[in-house]
This record gives sequence, structure tokens and C-alpha cells, in this order.
Amino acid sequence: MKIEKTLHSRIKKMDFNNIDFGNQYSDHMFCSEFKNGKWKNSIIKPFGNIMFSPTSLVFHYGQAVFEGMKAYKDQNEEVFLFRPEENFKRINRSAVRLEMPTIPENIFMNGLKQLINIDRDWIPKNYGQSLYIRPFLIATNGVLSANPSKDYMFMIISTPTDTYYKYPLKIKIEEKYSRSASGGVGFTKAAGNYASSFYPTRLANEKGFDQILWTDSSTHTMIEESGTMNVFFYLKNKLITPKFNDNILSGITCKSILSLAEKEGFFVEKRNVSVSEIIEGLQTGKLKEAFGCGTAAVINYFKTISYKGNDFDLPNLAEEKRISLYFKKILLDIQHNRSEDPFGWRV
Ligand code: PMP
Repeated sequence: MKIEKTLHSRIKKMDFNNIDFGNQYSDHMFCSEFKNGKWKNSIIKPFGNIMFSPTSLVFHYGQAVFEGMKAYKDQNEEVFLFRPEENFKRINRSAVRLEMPTIPENIFMNGLKQLINIDRDWIPKNYGQSLYIRPFLIATNGVLSANPSKDYMFMIISTPTDTYYKYPLKIKIEEKYSRSASGGVGFTKAAGNYASSFYPTRLANEKGFDQILWTDSSTHTMIEESGTMNVFFYLKNKLITPKFNDNILSGITCKSILSLAEKEGFFVEKRNVSVSEIIEGLQTGKLKEAFGCGTAAVINYFKTISYKGNDFDLPNLAEEKRISLYFKKILLDIQHNRSEDPFGWRV
């Protein structure tokens, strides 16, 4: 792999006490091209603009998939990734569904590790902070006809982050819009999934909700995900999450919480979750907690769930009694190398 280091590092301008997520990128980026059926020209170079033909399929037909992952530091400033092979497998599942070439493991992993090593000063040091990493694959060539591209670019960029969504969320159960449908691309990280969620999310935000609790597209009676997080309910002393299907992204945080919860002896259920059982749980007080989970926020619990114009408040538990925050700490401790790693997730 070619490595071109920047002569003008921006690290001195980076204020790690005031992290502006998504507005400050690390000094370098990784690029690899897919042309004539082959991957070539892998390079790490200074972060900067890229130029493609206006006919590129990514602009017209949305042939684009991506990942979201993080690099963490421990107290000795050693650097760790968390289950990166899961992101590698997932971007390729997304690529297959979007009729794009899969990325070879050595290109993904070497690109990732070398880039993060070169930009390791961009990883914040504090517990809960990290470097958010965005691998993505886009269709760079096209002839304006609605056919898959012949050429692609795989890139990795990164941006320092604090854990965000620090406050409890007010959530609305969606009754009209959907983020995915059976047989569609909801299980992938296709760029278009996110574009189509912006409008209903803005409508929900304008009504005072932080996020949408997505429901199935045909009946809106079954719960799928929360915003861009998977969702858990602590109902009747069971930790329940909707079973992954075509419509649901198989979140790595969700899978990790399931493994940890099983190991800790919780009653865990991966199954279909209906809106009516959640409403009943809210009305009877049997729903003790509800929370979203994902790489960005780790875990964020809900304070209110709203359905058909009625707000239902969740029990106002003390933080130390919340199993959401219990799992958040276990995950952060593993990610920051402050505890044993029973499943071998740190890399
Ligand atoms: N669902 C959606 C739609 C997402 O975008 C994400 C974020 N990747 C998640 C769930 C959580 O996945 P993960 O735990 O792998 O970040």
C-alpha cells in the first residue's frame, strides 16, 4: 500500500475538550479502487476532496454502502478496535445486496489498521471518547442508465467523538412512515436508508420527539428499531429485542449486549415485539426500561414513549438501578481495555 503523509497536520487545531463530531476529520484517509474487476491502487493520503464524473452512479441511483465503528484508547494510550471483523462482514453483506463488489478482507483490515495507526493522535484519550471511523463504498462510474457501476471506490475516513445523546430520549412510535420493508434493504447500511429517514425524523423532531421508534411497513404494529439504533425492552424481568430480519440492521452493539446479558444470567429473548405489548407494559408499569443501542451512542435510554398522541413515561429509576447503564459501562470498560474481554472482542 502506498502511504503519502500530510505535510500540514491539523492536529494542533483539534480541541479534544470541545469535540465537534463530524466537523473535524483526521489527517489521512484510505482509498482503494475497483476497476476492470480488480481491486487496486490502495493508498493512505491526506484527507481531502475527491473528484468523480457527474455520471457516477452514486449520485443518481444511490449505489453506496457504509459502516460505522470506533477506535478507543486505554489509560496507556494503547489503541483498540471493537469487533472490526463484524463491520467487515456487514459492509460486504450490504455490498452484495446493492450489487456492488465485495471488499477483500486484507484491503479492509490493513487499510483500517494502518490508517488508524497513522492517525492515532486523533483518538481522544478519555473514557467514553473515541475516534469514529467511517468506511464506505461508492459507485464511481456510470453511463446514466440505471445499471450497476463498473467502477467503485472504497474509502475510510475518521472523526473524533464524545459519546453523544447524553440525555434520556423522548420517542415516538411511527404509524405512517417506515425505514425499510420486507424484501428491501433495511438489513444493510445502504446510504438511501438514511436519506429516506430524514423527512419523517424531522417531522417527529418538530413535534418534540428525539427519535422515531420504527415499526413494520405493512401494519405498523411490530417494533423494529429506534432511529439509527437497535432497541431493547426490559419487560417482566426479561431483556427483549426484536429478532433481526430483512428490515432490521444486525447491530454489533445489540449482538454484544445479547452475549453479555446471556453470560450475566439475564432472561433474554430475541423475538417479534408488538406495539401493543409495549403499550401494555407502559400502562401496567411492567416495562421497566427501554433503550436504544449502537456504536455512536453505545446505549441511550428512553424516558417517554408516545403512541397515537399519548405520552407514556417510563419509570424514573435511579441511574445505578438501570440495566441500560449497567451494560453501557460493561461495554465501555471492554472497549477501553479497563476490564477482561471474555469474548475476545478487542483488536
Ligand atoms: N440500526 C441502524 C439503522 C443503524 O444505522 C445502526 C448504526 N450502525 C444500528 C442499528 C446499530 O448498529 P451498531 O451497533 O453496529 O452500530
